[in-house]
Amino acid sequence: MSTAADIDCLVVGAGVVGLAIARSLAMAGREVVVLEAEAGIGHGISSRNSEVIHAGIYYPQGSLKARFCVEGRKALYRFCADHGVPHNRCGKILVAASEDQRAQVLAIQKKAAANGVDDLRLIDSHEMKAMEPEVQGVIGLHSPSTGIVDSHALMLALQGDFEAHGGAIAFNTRVAGGEALSGVVRLRTEGEEASEITANHVVLASGLSSPRIARSITGLSPNTIPASRFAKGSYFSLARRAPFSRLVYPVPEPGGLGTHLTLDISGRGRFGPDVEWLDTDDERTIDYRVDPARAAKFYAAIRRYWPGLRDDELTPDYSGVRPKLSGPGEPDEDFLIQNDRVHGVRGLVALYGIESPGLTSSLAIADHVAQMVLQS
Ligand SMILES: Cc1cc2nc3c(=O)[nH]c(=O)nc-3n(C[C@H](O)[C@H](O)[C@H](O)COP(=O)(O)OP(=O)(O)OC[C@H]3O[C@@H](n4cnc5c(N)ncnc54)[C@H](O)[C@@H]3O)c2cc1C
Repeated sequence: MSTAADIDCLVVGAGVVGLAIARSLAMAGREVVVLEAEAGIGHGISSRNSEVIHAGIYYPQGSLKARFCVEGRKALYRFCADHGVPHNRCGKILVAASEDQRAQVLAIQKKAAANGVDDLRLIDSHEMKAMEPEVQGVIGLHSPSTGIVDSHALMLALQGDFEAHGGAIAFNTRVAGGEALSGVVRLRTEGEEASEITANHVVLASGLSSPRIARSITGLSPNTIPASRFAKGSYFSLARRAPFSRLVYPVPEPGGLGTHLTLDISGRGRFGPDVEWLDTDDERTIDYRVDPARAAKFYAAIRRYWPGLRDDELTPDYSGVRPKLSGPGEPDEDFLIQNDRVHGVRGLVALYGIESPGLTSSLAIADHVAQMVLQS
């Protein structure tokens, strides 16, 4: 006989992914509560990123990243337009700064086409100069469907829809662990009101801490939990108005997309994120301060495609940490979304490694996870 649950669906984590999933479930008519450790939404990775709506050009064909990025991008533009979320389809140029990077750019164009990104256009150095006079390169790819979004406004809009459909968020409620009971999942929480709560369905969308929480759920097969690796990315902002109207990216580097220029909604320019592998796999010990000494590498990387960057123009800004499922020198892993068929706990969906393009993909991930829940 199965135990009666306190609630139908619990989502752990009120980042952009957890909020999008909670919204989809609430809009499908389910009873949903989000458990969030912090006092507000979006205190995790979702407020420490580049805020870029990616086109979907980098990811291996057939991967969840490729699929969700392309689907999610289209859904996100629609959502932003419908909900008045500030965004700008400003486009991006991917630059081969020297002849030895030409082949990499051509390979990226091929990969993008395989992923269904059919609007990329190869541009020569003259056209690049006409579009972005300060950018230097031998060849480039113009991606017109890349854009930027105000990520906090996006999360507020998701929260608004969720609450309008009867959902609620319990803040200051940290999930410490849980167990599989017959037919339900029981979670233990600590914080303002430490307690236990059971649900028919639990979605673990807790970003950097998903593997650690999963390890504390009795009944969940431990060998299905990926080892997590953290790769910090620091940003430096530009002291003057950015002389660009599009995003400018170098060719990708191992672990990240290269030290690129992004613009925020107000037109402020910032560079980053770089890649710094951390020694810890405990998100509670992360130091988010940006080390000013990293600036030297930024100047060198940026001047390869923007020689006009002057000395002393970069100021340490913020940093974010990527929840990686592979380590230095290893190929990037795909998003990992597991249900009971993989880990053995009926009713639980666990998300791991939701790094970039997780913001762009959030609505597509939400559809996918909601289907898993609704069909189980
Ligand atoms: C440097 C960097 C740049 C990026 N740039 C981009 C980009 O330009 N475009 C893009 O598409 N993607 C980008 N990403 C990826 C994107 O930001 C993430 O994929 C996305 O924000 C992940 O959202 P999330 O909801 O899974 O995680 P989070 O935002 O981290 O949310 C998890 C939530 O769970 C809560 N939580 C944690 N532990 C517990 C617990 N025990 N109990 C209860 N709650 C808990 C946290 O407080 C947090 O609110 C970038 C990522 C990084 C690190």
